[in-house]
Amino acid sequence: MSAPDGVTLVTGGNRGIGAAIAERLRDGGHTVVTLGRSGGDVQADVSDAESVKRAFDEVHERFGKVLVLVNNAGLTRDGLAIRMSAEDWQSVVDTNLSGAFHCTRRALDDMLKARYGRIVNISSVVAERANPGQANYVAAKAGLLGFTRTVAREMGRKGITCNAITPGVIETDMTHDVADGLKAMVPAGRVGRPEEVAAAVAFLVGDDAAYINGATLSVDGGLGA
Ligand code: NDP
Repeated sequence: MSAPDGVTLVTGGNRGIGAAIAERLRDGGHTVVTLGRSGGDVQADVSDAESVKRAFDEVHERFGKVLVLVNNAGLTRDGLAIRMSAEDWQSVVDTNLSGAFHCTRRALDDMLKARYGRIVNISSVVAERANPGQANYVAAKAGLLGFTRTVAREMGRKGITCNAITPGVIETDMTHDVADGLKAMVPAGRVGRPEEVAAAVAFLVGDDAAYINGATLSVDGGLGA
């Protein structure tokens, strides 16, 4: 994989899947910058457009232009729709969906000037189905797939690709409380490792994926099949 002459920004890169993505891309020669609320190279809240703008200013000053963006930051606030608070709806949509927009919006300025860019959005296996108790999260992750396809179409002639990954159940802080019943449904017979999602990201940002645009790649052990 040839690394681009720019910065690779991984949101939510300080732990879980994001940390594995950051490590994998660093190993592949990328200059990786991680962003999170509580840690990472740059601190920002992706759900806040102003915070993202300040973060990009800092990245530009300290590291350079963002030519690869991995929108990985995400969170869950589960509950049945009938009992879900407006705050829990909003925070999940603001982080998982609007956060990807705010970061993409900023990164596209850099990518358009370079006429090169790779965007990978981390959605979820639930985006293409239903998951009772996660109406906010499913809506946000499904929206992220539509956003991915549309950015792909808008930027296709500019040397910029935008693709999505739909992970299944991956062993991180987020899935500590996931029911064993769901884990037992995975055809692979096990949950996934963050490194397995990172490998798919490395493929999508690499030269071999130059003709892949607007696609959704499942990394779920067959769960979504
Ligand atoms: P974790 O909870 O382990 O990590 C989430 C990361 O996102 C943290 O680095 C966190 O950092 C960051 N983050 C959360 N909110 C914000 C915010 N507002 N601004 C900036 N950073 C934020 O989750 P995973 O590693 O499991 O998940 C990573 C991605 O993969 C998410 O988008 C998730 O929805 C998706 N996914 C995960 C699956 C799984 O099974 N684990 C399955 C399918 C999809 P901090 O708290 O410091 O801000």
